[in-house]
Parts: sequence; structure tokens; C-alpha cells
Amino acid sequence: MPTSSNLSNKVPFTTMIGFNLNKTKRHFTEVLAERFPQREAEQLMRILLEDLFGIDLKRQLMEPSLRIDELQHALLRTSVDRLLAGEPVQYVTGLAHFDGMAFRVNPSVLIPRPETEELVWKIAAQLPTDRPMRLWDIGTGSGCIAIALAKRFPLAKVTAFEVSPLALETAKGNAERLQVTLDFVLDDVLNPQSETWNEPVDLVVSNPPYIRESEKTAMEPNVLEYEPGTALFVPDEDPLLFYRQILSLAKSQLNPGGVVWFEINEALGEELLCLCKEQGFQADLWEDYAGKPRFVCATRTSGINVMVSRRPSW
Ligand code: GLN
Repeated sequence: MPTSSNLSNKVPFTTMIGFNLNKTKRHFTEVLAERFPQREAEQLMRILLEDLFGIDLKRQLMEPSLRIDELQHALLRTSVDRLLAGEPVQYVTGLAHFDGMAFRVNPSVLIPRPETEELVWKIAAQLPTDRPMRLWDIGTGSGCIAIALAKRFPLAKVTAFEVSPLALETAKGNAERLQVTLDFVLDDVLNPQSETWNEPVDLVVSNPPYIRESEKTAMEPNVLEYEPGTALFVPDEDPLLFYRQILSLAKSQLNPGGVVWFEINEALGEELLCLCKEQGFQADLWEDYAGKPRFVCATRTSGINVMVSRRPSW
């Protein structure tokens, strides 16, 4: 039987371990609020606790006596320092949420944007999800589009193309974590070498680089300093180069009734519609949640839309 002195030794010891979560949260929120607006500071703290430690907002609010240990506290401190230095929170936690899933991200890939999530939703709303088809995602980055579509179109054979080996590894890791099977091809769409480009395809999706170099001045420093420039920027002299190349590949490989979906620069919609027309596509502009022209859906003018009834192409 324990003696009373044993007990009194134990109790203070256990209550002393670690740090009270609520107090820690309050402290670091105050630190963050010196650089960010209060609401944003609170939001960032919520994300850190959720994505670093898996403590969701409900637990943060409902379990006031929750404690974190020394290591967790140290990780929070360095994470807060990184946020104060301007690093995007998704790179700090290594996680970005997209279409209800958590994707691993790092500076070799763009942080998935809400517009891109909307692109996935628009495609899923437009096409029957229960038909076999071949799908290409060109410039997959973290793999968010390809993986989200592979989940939503379980009968699709999805191929994700990427020019950056590091980004491709990230996308592969995400597919594994999220338990979807897709093909990955390391290749440059501007200088295509892979045999896969010779295969037929039903749906081509791409969110290629589309920000003109001259638009850099209007961009947030945390995007410019941390996100991969190769995934973002195009020369002012030829801002649609990726679209032209993708349309030309799609022109020769798209099955009858096939569709191309793009995310686009809001300032280049009309120009891109002209390009689509020139290349023999009928195309429409779609707005994003902010009312900006953000997507283009293109179909071959010569083809008939038989996506719904067509037999699988492989
Ligand atoms: N939408 C991204 C941004 O505003 C750009 C994505 C892209 O260039 N494809 O940062």
C-alpha cells in the first residue's frame, strides 16, 4: 500500500507534466496577433493544433484541462516562429485540406487552392462518375486534382503528369496515403517524351502555371518566397503556352465526346477561348466562387458528346 508521502510525491508530479493546452493556445495566439489580425491568429492556432497534434477545435474547446508535452510545446514554438517569418501554414504543418482529404505538401508543390477544389467539384457535377474513362491531370503537383478525381470517378484510369521529380514523389506519397491507385508519369508537357501521350484520353484536366511575370508585384510575399515558381509563372510574351500545348495534345488524343477542363488566369479567359476555337474546340468560361472567370471547359467541335453512353476506351 502506498504511503501518504508517496502519494503526495506523485500527484504534483503528474499535474506538473507538460503545459495546459488552453493557456498555451492563448499565449501563442497573442504572439501571432502581433503580426496577424486577431481572427487570423486564432485561425492559425486552431490549424496548428489540429494538423500538428490532431486536436480538433471541438476538443480544444471542450477539454479545458487538456495538456501537451514538452516536445509538442517546442514544436508549437518553432511553428509559430515560422508563421511569423511569413511561411504559409500548410508548409509549416505539412498538410493541406482539399476536397475533404488531407494532402501532404512541401515547397516542391503548390498549396492546393479553393478554386482548384471548385474545379474538381464542377467536373464531378458535369460528368457521370460511374463510367469507365481515361483521365489525364497535367502538372499534378501535390496530386490533389488527380487524387480527388480518382476518388470521385472510381472507374476512371487516372494518369498524373508532372515535370518536377520532387513534386511527383509528393503526389505518389499522397496517393498511397489516401489509398487511390493512379499512374504517375515524370515528363515535361512542353517537351513530351513519354509514350503515354500517345494513348487515347477522355478527360484532360490541368491547372498549369498561368501567372504572368509582370503580375508578381501584386502577389503576396508568402506565395513568392515559399511556393514553387515553376508551378506559378509564365512569360508575359506567351502566357498561354501550356494551354496551347495541352490543347494540341488533346486534339490528337481525345476520344470523341472527350472534354478538357482548365483552371485559368482570370485576365486571360477571352484570349484562351479564342485559342480553343483556333484549335478546333468549342469552349465555355466558368466563374469561381468569387465571380471571377476561372475555368474553361472545352470540347472538340467535330466530336459528338457520347461520354454518357460510350463503351470504355480500354
Ligand atoms: N491560383 C494560383 C495563385 O493564385 C495560381 C495557380 C497557377 O498558376 N496555376 O497563386
